[in-house]
Amino acid sequence: MSTTDTTTPPAASSAGSPRVIAHWIDGTEHPSKSGRTAPVYNPATGAVQAEVALADESEIAQAIASAKRGFEVWSGYSIAKRQTVLFAFRELLNARKGELAAIITAEHGKVVSDAMGEILRGQEVVELATGFPHLIKGAFSENASTGIDVYSLKQPLGVVGIISPFNFPAMVPMWFFPVAIAAGNSVILKPSEKDPSAALWLAQLWKEAGLPDGVFTVLQGDKLAVDGLLNSPVVQSISFVGSTPIAQYIYETASRNGKRVQALGGAKNHMLVLPDADLDLVADQAVNAGYGAAGERCMAISVVLAVEPVADELIGKITDRIKGLRIGNGAGVDGVEPDMGPLITAQHREKVSSYVDIAEQDGAKIVVDGRGFTVDGHEDGFFFGPTLIDDIPITSRAYTEEIFGPVLSVVRVGSYEEGLELINSGQFGNGTAIFTNDGGAARRFQHEVEVGMIGINVPIPVPVAYHSFGGWKASLFGDAKAYGVHGFEFFTREKAITSRWLDPATHGGINLGFPQNN
Ligand code: NAD
Repeated sequence: MSTTDTTTPPAASSAGSPRVIAHWIDGTEHPSKSGRTAPVYNPATGAVQAEVALADESEIAQAIASAKRGFEVWSGYSIAKRQTVLFAFRELLNARKGELAAIITAEHGKVVSDAMGEILRGQEVVELATGFPHLIKGAFSENASTGIDVYSLKQPLGVVGIISPFNFPAMVPMWFFPVAIAAGNSVILKPSEKDPSAALWLAQLWKEAGLPDGVFTVLQGDKLAVDGLLNSPVVQSISFVGSTPIAQYIYETASRNGKRVQALGGAKNHMLVLPDADLDLVADQAVNAGYGAAGERCMAISVVLAVEPVADELIGKITDRIKGLRIGNGAGVDGVEPDMGPLITAQHREKVSSYVDIAEQDGAKIVVDGRGFTVDGHEDGFFFGPTLIDDIPITSRAYTEEIFGPVLSVVRVGSYEEGLELINSGQFGNGTAIFTNDGGAARRFQHEVEVGMIGINVPIPVPVAYHSFGGWKASLFGDAKAYGVHGFEFFTREKAITSRWLDPATHGGINLGFPQNN
């Protein structure tokens, strides 16, 4: 891919057949010969704008072999040389991120400013990674035993695999690859087949930053490619983000194959609103966190737990705000950007719609109904209107399962304790938020809630790059979260060295006993 034609991918090749989005192997685009492809839509128009290659066994093997060669070169680079490449990558990304945002919007559908937002959060991890020497330093204990020094080294794992979801085609890969590459590993990224072009753009950028060929590989594909990485003895670790059933499969398979694995899964994030909260602030934040990116965020708020007597007033305020939302093509029309774009596919829209049907059948009240929503001039786009549900039964699948669309449900509760119990009894534990002016209640909540990331009057508490990202329970399988200190731990392995330089005074002669400390 050239660096100049990336902002508006052509819909078709010059011959009129769909453009096929390639792999990136050995530092260049690698057209696929597998004969297997999947459609890539423009969700705002519903049109197929390209096909993406789906790797076969031979392409998986080529990608892995190239990454192995890349590791041999890259792991020999000094810390200073690696740092130079990372700084160059950061500068290029910062200067050209507008191109990437346009690519994300064209394939994912989210509004351009939101695409820019995800890039900036990913860029934070790149910036963290530029300071990696401090984070992979070993430790040294002089004279740990008489005449003996003990020290530790942190070394890269080798070839590492990253498998990412459709909803953050740039940020989620950037949660992992800056850290992995900084630590000296080579990376194979398997992006979502729904929006695969961001990964190729990032690969091109690494090339321009001076990363040696084979250190960053993009393997386009589906389950076959994923299983190829899971089953390869060359691939040392897997970092996965996606839905919970697949995260569990990844965790079990990769662990069985002796790999390190971190597998981040789905979510159902609750916002607990205490009666003393500022309801205008709460309504603003519920709308932002519920409908931003059309609800296709793992940290989206999908349930508002309103501690009575605030529910009626809060529902009124949220409804008023929904009426003001502009929904349309995320790329904007005549230079005006809407608030919310479409969903990723027609199939996903069907799924979201079916959950609203379920809620209704289970007796919930549909306050604002986004089913059947269309945008003038974009009738074939995958749009779904913002939806607000009241009185959803907690036994309904629309309450217990992840919907991943612009659907906000309200559950009325009688107390803080009842709300907390609901959050803690759910299967997920990704994010949550409490809205209150009561510091004591907030402090109690952060201690008692069984969730990995907590916001206090902050609805989408994605931690900054030097704190790590990850949920609890069915939202994360494995022991290491993404980025921050966890990231550097995950992508390095430690050696402990016990060293003595021969000194006749401390040599001690022959002694068959187990070594003692003295
Ligand atoms: P998904 O699970 O369908 O796909 C994720 C990745 O797994 C993709 O690369 C896909 O190609 C691959 N995959 C899909 N089916 C597979 C199979 N049977 N075997 C092997 N690999 C398979 O997820 P998605 O729809 O792309 O993304 C949305 C999901 O991701 C939501 O559940 C969301 O909550 C979750 N997510 C979680 C986080 C988090 O931090 N916890 C962040 C973003 C997204």
